[in-house]
Amino acid sequence: MKVSETFIPTLREVPGDAVIVSHRLMLRAALIRKLSNGLFAYLPLGLRSFRKVERIIREEMDAAGALEIKPTVVVPGELWKESGRWDSMGDALLRVKNRVGSDFVVSPTAEEAFTALVRDELSSYRQLPLTLYQINTKYRDEVRPRYGVMRGREFVMKDAYSFHTDEASLDETYQKMGRAYRRIFKRCGLTVIPVRADSGAMGGTGSEEFMVESEIGDNTLLLCKACDYAANVEKAGCKPDYTAPASVETPHVEKIDTPHVRTIEELCSFLKTDARQFIKTLIYKAVNVELDLSAAPGCAKLVQRKPAPDAPPVYPEAFFAVTIRGDLDVNEVKLAAILKAAEVVLAADTDVERITGAPVGFAGPVGLTSVPVIADETVTAMTDAVAGALAKDLHYTHVAYGRDFTPWLVTDVRTVVAGDRCPVCGGELYEKKGNELGHIFKLGYKYTKTMKVSYLDVNGKSHTPTMGCYGIGLDRTLASAIEEHHDEAGIIWPITIAPFHVIIVPIKYDGAVKAAADSITADLEKQGVEVLLDDRNERPGVKFNDADLTGIPYRVVVGDKNLAGENPRVEIKGRSEKDNRLVELKAAAEELTALVHRDLAELNQ
Ligand code: ATP
Ligand code: MG
Repeated sequence: MKVSETFIPTLREVPGDAVIVSHRLMLRAALIRKLSNGLFAYLPLGLRSFRKVERIIREEMDAAGALEIKPTVVVPGELWKESGRWDSMGDALLRVKNRVGSDFVVSPTAEEAFTALVRDELSSYRQLPLTLYQINTKYRDEVRPRYGVMRGREFVMKDAYSFHTDEASLDETYQKMGRAYRRIFKRCGLTVIPVRADSGAMGGTGSEEFMVESEIGDNTLLLCKACDYAANVEKAGCKPDYTAPASVETPHVEKIDTPHVRTIEELCSFLKTDARQFIKTLIYKAVNVELDLSAAPGCAKLVQRKPAPDAPPVYPEAFFAVTIRGDLDVNEVKLAAILKAAEVVLAADTDVERITGAPVGFAGPVGLTSVPVIADETVTAMTDAVAGALAKDLHYTHVAYGRDFTPWLVTDVRTVVAGDRCPVCGGELYEKKGNELGHIFKLGYKYTKTMKVSYLDVNGKSHTPTMGCYGIGLDRTLASAIEEHHDEAGIIWPITIAPFHVIIVPIKYDGAVKAAADSITADLEKQGVEVLLDDRNERPGVKFNDADLTGIPYRVVVGDKNLAGENPRVEIKGRSEKDNRLVELKAAAEELTALVHRDLAELNQ
């Protein structure tokens, strides 16, 4: 293809809101243009790369036995009301009404649509397992779209959904998808960190996120220096760094005056001890709690809601006191998971005062009965601690777990940080920032139960199938490949997703140079090599800069000087190589073809 016949409006400057490398380069290399906040159009060069990512994903999904379908992007709102996500998705869900006032949703994901489709067709166990997928447009009304297509509002996702009679079958597909994902990212030239979402201590494998390291990553990952443990901080666990003493020989609890001392730091300097001696107590408000609170202190009169007649109750709002060793932080994602809550947030000051009977800063577990007390495991080892005394300017000393208070629940809610010990091998953990490219997840019965999917087993008995879901963002994958492969001059495409394999740069597209450039182009194209011929009447420097910027893996420079004489030659250079090589004009196409095939094979193997 000739540059003059396509549309590659490269840019020198980009707008100031393009702060990350991939966003800047995608704009400069004319891969994308912004239409509006979070909305991007792909131009011809960008679309070529995008289609290659798509092809790789499709090939690997097909090879793993998943079946592609093409559902719609606009989906009846009824399905989302059925699953409960019409309400719980909040403002991220783009809702529209048609001309007669019926509700629709612009798909942000498609569990509902696929579950409904399978529900209507499924009758027998013989139809299972079944894995369906689409590569399709998604819309999420992200609060803060940023970093170009990394976090857009409209984007394309490959999403697959699998349906099974039992856990073993689900696990088999889940493992297959995990292998397919590893191959997809390798073929796209990406180094991913597969992150298990369980804490590692339980050994479960219900979810795996595929992350790329990124300074602007939204996720904090904890990785072990000694083994392959990797976890999202939201779920990460660690080896205990405490031992509970066999018996408590602590003097009785004592109430002490701590005037104007509220924070752990202030207490530390006031009492001249360190934060590990304090039991920190925080009051949380949890929303839509599904955990059974019928026997929990202070919860007898809580308002309950029944989502369905035979469903367990949901508590729209409940308060909890969470205690943890003073040097640690509560992990709110872990807490929400334990409570099966949609959200947990720190309680407002007025709620804290109502619950603890004291101003903020004096909460403690001793004598606290108005709400359930949840203790982090670290607290179980604390037998001579300082804690708030539920009264202004007062604290308790010599507080012993089990003697002076007994929590409603003991669990792991600590935020693991660098330096903590790996839950698997005890090695030291360190942190990295990461971005999620893909996610595989065992959903279980979440949608098949609420949306009432069933099949008949061999004896004609009705069952609910179990389900898995598997997503990859195409735009983010493409942008991440640029993040990983670039230099100051531009993109350095992995050849599998490069818009073209070879760019031919004639110094002046005229006469013998034109003839040579055309003939190499024709020879390469005959071999299936994708060639961009820069036939513009521009200075060579401009063409070289654009060739570097657009990152095409091989550049061929055709010039008068090298063509002259008995042995006409052209210059070949790999995008990441520093120096040119001269090769004979008549051997150039063959050599380039071999290089391209070698590079493709290496990534695709
Ligand atoms: P994130 O935490 O980054 O918002 P998510 O957990 O919401 O991601 P999933 O719902 O698991 O993402 O979606 C699957 C994939 O879709 C993600 O791994 C990512 O590659 C892609 N994706 C999600 N949101 C966006 C977005 N706003 N822009 C581009 N890609 C996205
Ligand atoms: Mg999201």
